[in-house]
Amino acid sequence: MDLGINGRTAVVCAASKGLGRACAEALAAEGVNLVITARNAELLEQTAAEIRQRFSVTVATAPGDVTTESGRAAALEACPAPDILINNAGGPPVGDWRTFERDQWLGATDSNMVAAIMLIRAVIDGMAERKFGRIINITSALVKQPHAALSLSVAARLGLTGFTKAIAAQYVGANVTINSLLPEQFETDRLRSNIQKLTAKSGRTLDEEIAAAAASSPAKRMGRVEEFGAVCAFYCSAHAGYLTGQNVMLDGGRYPAVF
Ligand code: NAP
Repeated sequence: MDLGINGRTAVVCAASKGLGRACAEALAAEGVNLVITARNAELLEQTAAEIRQRFSVTVATAPGDVTTESGRAAALEACPAPDILINNAGGPPVGDWRTFERDQWLGATDSNMVAAIMLIRAVIDGMAERKFGRIINITSALVKQPHAALSLSVAARLGLTGFTKAIAAQYVGANVTINSLLPEQFETDRLRSNIQKLTAKSGRTLDEEIAAAAASSPAKRMGRVEEFGAVCAFYCSAHAGYLTGQNVMLDGGRYPAVF
């Protein structure tokens, strides 16, 4: 299926590895030219070079922290009028919510809510004028199925989810959509590190814990990042203009309810 986005431009935040990179690669496979961001400039350049070589698209880099104004400005300077925006950032720390201080709550809010809102604000009216825009927020399955140990993440991401739903209907008439993808158990560095922290006292090795986590999924495996990227690319496609304000679970069937 031709997704109809060949030659479009995308800013993909937090994309040197993991889910962000998978989204960047899936868009590049459709002929989308990219600006990708991450804090570690060296790994970012390496990722960009690999995507360029594999997909023959333009890949510019904007090294920086997307949770800061300067990091976002660098991304927008490299691509002031993107057709596609993928909002992503690192997740906040896991732990007992009673131990988190005010600064940590504000930090999580910055990373997983405010950064995305600022980027949306910067690009969405231009998308509406040009009559094409696709915005994806990478959030978490926790938005629909919260977990106390990830309270920082849940609280901030639900704020972004509510905001997104509130504004989606304002823009769909101009062929600009905003949707969120809610991952769970995609095997990335972040997932390995979270499992390590949550199971530190279990007495089992990290590989054993990962195998147990995979076995506990209805899918009996972890998600593959390519699967995540492919869904992202479809939601960014020309065919997805009637689909907005949605929260799409990519969780191997773990979420137990209908809605
Ligand atoms: P990952 O493999 O650790 O990759 C994170 C990427 O984001 C890296 O490229 C990292 O590069 C970049 N990054 C992190 N903080 C950044 C910042 N402040 N500014 C710019 N770039 C930043 O993580 P992942 O698993 O893909 O997770 C992506 C998001 O999905 C996270 O918010 C995570 O909590 C969420 N999530 C993932 C899963 C899952 O199953 N993997 C489940 C639920 C939610 P630098 O470190 O160089 O900046």
